[in-house]
Amino acid sequence: MNHSKFKILKSKFLFAFLLFSFFLCSAQSPKYIFYFIGDGFGIGALTYCENVAKKNGETLCFSQFPVTGLITTHSSNKLVTCSSAAVTALASGEKTNNGMLNISPDSKQVFTPISSTFHKKGYRVGIATTVSIDHATPAGFYAHSTSRTSYYDIATQLATSGFEFFAGAGFLKPTEKKMGSIFTLLRDSSYVVSTSILKCSGSTSLKNILIQPEGKDVKQLPYSIKKDKTDFTLAQITQLGIEKLTLQNDPFFFMIEGGLIDWASHDNMAKELYGEVKEFSEAIEVALKFYEQYPKETLIIVTADHETGGTLIYNDGIHFTTKNHTGNIVPIFAIGVGAEKFSGLYENTEVMKKLLQDFLLTE
Ligand SMILES: [Zn+2]
Repeated sequence: MNHSKFKILKSKFLFAFLLFSFFLCSAQSPKYIFYFIGDGFGIGALTYCENVAKKNGETLCFSQFPVTGLITTHSSNKLVTCSSAAVTALASGEKTNNGMLNISPDSKQVFTPISSTFHKKGYRVGIATTVSIDHATPAGFYAHSTSRTSYYDIATQLATSGFEFFAGAGFLKPTEKKMGSIFTLLRDSSYVVSTSILKCSGSTSLKNILIQPEGKDVKQLPYSIKKDKTDFTLAQITQLGIEKLTLQNDPFFFMIEGGLIDWASHDNMAKELYGEVKEFSEAIEVALKFYEQYPKETLIIVTADHETGGTLIYNDGIHFTTKNHTGNIVPIFAIGVGAEKFSGLYENTEVMKKLLQDFLLTE
């Protein structure tokens, strides 16, 4: 090979190498991930809430996100999913039967939620909700069970998860016959359980749980429109979670559920529904402020697990057509690092795979 040919080959190689490095660098993976799930929050409720917000001179912050998409919701055995099959798809990227949580329909395979994958990668993990911490959607990020109602078993898996932050109304079944109290198990696993934002904020433990004080409902935070000053808001919980997850300069994965959007829809209560969506939006605003500080490192996803209430807009108002879930597709919104991947219409199992995509590329 003569000298000039070698030079050309060398420069071609250099060019290819530069191009390759460029693609590696451009497939950036987010350091801070917010995964918001509005339980039961479908297109009908979104339309209704957009209308109410406009009338009130308010805005739902996520509807301004640059990327919008749609996802399917059916489970492996039903066109109309329940929350545990839906969260299995959203958290683990796998379909299962209604009633099951992170276990294959034949009960032979246990699925790993994305939260555990990130935790192993050194991310700190937070799980927050407006309902009980052992309810299907939050549970889908730290537990598996052939039955979503095995609340005690689910709570024991929380104790061994090692995740850094949990928040919600409380625990549905803190004790089981002949078994220890879940609070003892949590303490033995170095979790500090607090019943006020201030106390939780002041806790020096690296593993924290916030629940409502004794006497309040373990099933749910009060509906947004019925809250008093002593009640937690999802925005306060989100702020507290960020504080706890960023104690050290580690990356984090934070799942935040608006669980009462579903309950208000089951009961066909339009005012409560708007209140919960507004509360959900205010929590997302907290994440947006964080995003504005770290725009090159943050990704915010907002989606739903399924639609509830069969909400339709006609005769100039909202109408619920069922007290149950429907099989409708639901919206997804994204902003930040890698957000563009979330546009289009696709299966709910793809969300988690899209989230992991860049990590697989750069590994
Ligand atoms: Zn429901």
